[in-house]
Amino acid sequence: AERVNRIRNENRIHVNGTDVPPPIQSFTQLVSEYGMKDVLIKNAADVGYHVPTPIQMQAIPLMLQRRELLASAPTGSGKTAAFLIPLLHHLKEPSKKGIRALIVAPTRELAAQIHRECVRLSEGTHLRCHQLDHIGKKSSKAVRAVCSSKCDLLVCTPSRLIYLLNRDPCPITLKSVEWLVVDESDKLFEIGTTGGFREQLARIYTACNAANVRRALFSATFAFDVEQWCKLNLDNVVMTSIGARNT
Ligand code: ADP
Ligand code: MG
Repeated sequence: AERVNRIRNENRIHVNGTDVPPPIQSFTQLVSEYGMKDVLIKNAADVGYHVPTPIQMQAIPLMLQRRELLASAPTGSGKTAAFLIPLLHHLKEPSKKGIRALIVAPTRELAAQIHRECVRLSEGTHLRCHQLDHIGKKSSKAVRAVCSSKCDLLVCTPSRLIYLLNRDPCPITLKSVEWLVVDESDKLFEIGTTGGFREQLARIYTACNAANVRRALFSATFAFDVEQWCKLNLDNVVMTSIGARNT
């Protein structure tokens, strides 16, 4: 416990919750302690990730233990890989079940960045990741994959997804979603933004109705209303933040 506290202090990792796993200090540790496949560690190394960032140190083991969480860390601190690496571990292999991991981001550009990183980190796993709100040719390719259950991980903005959910008959199902990740959740919660993100998120949250669904929210700031929402809606939630306290 002493050692764990020291690692957290040195990396300014704050945690709030019960039975929080210790932070990892290296990616290779994930192979020995969590049985992660070497290919995921190799892919991370190939894109230049040799040492986990503080948010990755704490959020990766949390997600590997299937904990629901709210994680906040400054912009540029590696939040994308903090959720993608555990998601790719959980998904293991392609499946016919349809979307098993759903990542929601506030803008198409952000979703594109996440999708790009996912393609790189999933190399050699055969997992199929798509972005729903691609533009041009890739867009219809993604829709076809999603509608024919040939998609394991989907990245999208709320509005594009809700457009499909509202079609009658509805061409997609979220009943196999095991992980719902909301990136930049503070932005999605801002009231008054066009499209009513909060309602859209509630709609998506409700559509992911598998009994075993897990949810993780990531953001750059620790917003009070997001925290309240998590306390109300998530199961035994862990809150983790990086940096100075109460920012
Ligand atoms: P955030 O979502 O927190 O704003 P990103 O996930 O976009 O941050 O990552 C910011 C930058 O850091 C990206 O260029 C990414 O490739 C890089 N990065 C992420 N994790 C690591 C790591 N462990 N080591 C080195 N660079 C990393
Ligand atoms: Mg980000």
